[in-house]
Amino acid sequence: MIISRNPYTGEEISNHHELSDTEVEKCIQKAHSRFKSWKETSFAERSNLMMKAAKELKDNSREYAEAITKEMGKPITQATAEIEKCAWVCEYYAENAESQLENEKIKTDAKNSYVAYEPIGVVLAVMPWNYPFWQVFRFAAPALMAGNIGILKHASNVMLSANNIQKVFERAGFPKDCFQNLVIGSKKVENIIRHTNVKAVTLTGSGRAGSSVASIAGEEIKKSVLELGGSNALVIFKDANIAESVKTCVQARFQNTGQSCIAGKRLLIYKDIAEEFLDEFTRQVRELKSGDPMDKETFIGVMAKESLAEDLEDQIKDSVKKGAKIILGGKRDGTYFEPTIITGAKEGMPIFDEETFGPAISVTEFKDDQEAVDLVNSSNFGLGVSIFTEDEKFALKMVPKFEDGAVFVNELVKSDPRLPFGGTKISGYGRELSHHGIKEFTNRKTVYFNKY
Ligand code: NAP
Repeated sequence: MIISRNPYTGEEISNHHELSDTEVEKCIQKAHSRFKSWKETSFAERSNLMMKAAKELKDNSREYAEAITKEMGKPITQATAEIEKCAWVCEYYAENAESQLENEKIKTDAKNSYVAYEPIGVVLAVMPWNYPFWQVFRFAAPALMAGNIGILKHASNVMLSANNIQKVFERAGFPKDCFQNLVIGSKKVENIIRHTNVKAVTLTGSGRAGSSVASIAGEEIKKSVLELGGSNALVIFKDANIAESVKTCVQARFQNTGQSCIAGKRLLIYKDIAEEFLDEFTRQVRELKSGDPMDKETFIGVMAKESLAEDLEDQIKDSVKKGAKIILGGKRDGTYFEPTIITGAKEGMPIFDEETFGPAISVTEFKDDQEAVDLVNSSNFGLGVSIFTEDEKFALKMVPKFEDGAVFVNELVKSDPRLPFGGTKISGYGRELSHHGIKEFTNRKTVYFNKY
């Protein structure tokens, strides 16, 4: 039995029968047989259904958002925004998939040569709990529009949301088994990846899970995409607009109660403006409203699991032992963690070297531009970086110096259906979203005509 528990109240919300190996096998067979007809559907047909999925999300956003809030503690206004973003990605691919997957003509010696983008079959998605709808929709919308079939292994603490996602596609009228949620624990993932009728796997989650899934996919010579952790830096250069950048950095770190892969976890500030910046930053963080995640005024909810709050506590304690200083927060009560600011962070401390997955930010001062770049790139993660400066020429010069998958200037790193999303180094490989994302799970078929 897989149980969903409300991390704010501790109550059991729902329990789910875990599928047996035989039941999983049946689901894969159904998915495979659905692929044979789904790949033949027209873009117009798929697009029509995907628009209906967007409508279903918008019409019932409260129902879906409440389940998210109860299952993993995300404040209700943020959960509702997540559902609306899912509707957006459905609409985006409903409108753009056909042109994105058009044959790409290439001039050669042939009479006609081109690349065709064709679906590959059943794709397994292993997903995390922190954006229980968004992470899945940004996979499912392009995968289905490309003619693939999705099977989901969601995080064990958000099975209610996982079932709701399947319900969205069913209510939208998608043919049965185009998208199935498999109620299983992570031990069953290996056999699914190895199954002949499963053609690829995408995982969003921790490095540990990513490494395991990618190794199995590698042994089976199957395509994998990995969206893993991050330790993004927020870099405040000497000419940054302090009022604007403070506001953006507070959002970048504390939304979703700090449980976001692309959150700005390391605040790097030019030394001469550090005091002024930190005074204002601390004032604004102190004002963030903590409370019942169901209350629409709440900005900081609770962490999804107590074990995660304990991990964060340990990382902070260890860093303090190594010389870091807590200037705000730092205390934990069950799953609730106070918004926390820690100064004096440096390499060798967990709050600088590791991913911190909760409402805590580390602060490091730098003396010049080169040191800022070195601090950003010293991380093993490479999801994204935000830089704050009023000088456009300077920003353009700095962009190529960072090793990350994304550089955002005067903005927090965020996902957008129109832009590719993904990391470098131990943050993973492959891209989601935009035309890059939809092509990941296609056969890029080379076609060459010598006559006609
Ligand atoms: P997680 O423990 O890795 O779990 C993610 C998913 O993988 C869950 O469905 C989990 O199932 C499954 N899983 C765990 N171990 C597995 C294994 N050995 N083999 C197969 N599947 C396995 O990560 P999480 O704690 O849920 O999520 C937080 C992590 O996700 C953070 O590191 C965060 O940065 C990362 N993340 C990355 C992105 C991105 O786009 N780059 C976005 C969001 C989150 P169970 O729940 O059943 O264990």
